[in-house]
Amino acid sequence: MAKRDYYEVLGVERGASEAELKKAYRRLAMKHHPDRNPDDKAAEEKFKEANEAYEVLSDAGKRSAYDQYGHAGVDPQMGGGGGFGGGGANFSDIFGDVFSDFFGGGGGRSRGGAQRGSDLRYTLELDLEEAVRGTTVTIRVPTLVGCKTCDGSGAKKGTSPVTCTTCGGIGQVRMQQGFFSVQQTCPRCHGSGKMISDPCGSCHGQGRVEESKTLSVKVPAGVDTGDRIRLSGEGEAGSHGGPAGDLYVVVNVREHAIFQRDGKHLYCEVPISFADAALGGELEVPTLDGRVKLKIPEGTQTGKLFRLRGKGVAPVRGGGAGDLMCRVAVETPVNLDKRQRELLAEFRKSLEGDTSHSPKASGWFDGMKRFFGDI
Ligand SMILES: [Zn+2]
Ligand SMILES: [Zn+2]
Repeated sequence: MAKRDYYEVLGVERGASEAELKKAYRRLAMKHHPDRNPDDKAAEEKFKEANEAYEVLSDAGKRSAYDQYGHAGVDPQMGGGGGFGGGGANFSDIFGDVFSDFFGGGGGRSRGGAQRGSDLRYTLELDLEEAVRGTTVTIRVPTLVGCKTCDGSGAKKGTSPVTCTTCGGIGQVRMQQGFFSVQQTCPRCHGSGKMISDPCGSCHGQGRVEESKTLSVKVPAGVDTGDRIRLSGEGEAGSHGGPAGDLYVVVNVREHAIFQRDGKHLYCEVPISFADAALGGELEVPTLDGRVKLKIPEGTQTGKLFRLRGKGVAPVRGGGAGDLMCRVAVETPVNLDKRQRELLAEFRKSLEGDTSHSPKASGWFDGMKRFFGDI
């Protein structure tokens, strides 16, 4: 069976905006979702068809390939450009986003074509210190808001939208397809049931305009990369009086010059001198609350981890703070002067023939002996 045009599948114009595509897809996906239509093969096909169409049209690259070459431009079997290969992660992300309100039970379509606005996602870059302590940041997000000129109706001031003649105001049309008669979103009014004969000049009949808004986001202490902060109702404005979507602020913690984070624990590497490692001493190590002293016992080997309890991160979901793990790295001295060289040469001489000062080396030599003995 020949594939249907993707725009036709979603019931949108060829020039449809990203938001319109998403809206159309969301509507179809919710309607034909297998959970809602158990054992309904036709619905399942519709669901798959809508998924495929949206996957292509929501990707700028694939969409332009499709616009130029049609299905051949994006179909993996045809060996064309684009393809569906790398889209997996991105797709599930979109999917979760689209369905968040569906599975949550709220929002969705209501009478008169009112539709909830899309959820938006904003990536918030934070320094480790900000993520650990919490902060309040101001962000600017582009979003669709209700048009003030027409109060969101999309019709020119003094006029009002009229009932759609294609669907008679229902927002859905019946289409014959093979043996099935399927209900589809009205391609003329995109499900709103209304038509605007005299569109508002500010929003071109959309009822919504793109604006960037400034929001203050309170970031709780302890957040980590991937954590989401939901700002209810701060997403895209709904259409035709529908409620606004939500804004999800997704945290991304930047790499830190000194600390690596692993959940609630922090790791850092502290260089120590060869002499300090051998004789023991006191080191200054960095923590997020400033420097602290760390006692190093004599005979400390490179790579040894010292745990500073409670100097890690207090997780955002509660529980005690993690630890700071300092890994010491013994540094080989460089640029030695004559005197220092003499001292070290003398020191080396003093060790000759005595492996009791070299716990690792003696173990290693024992291993070597066994290895060669086995051969
Ligand atoms: Zn307007
Ligand atoms: Zn209609």
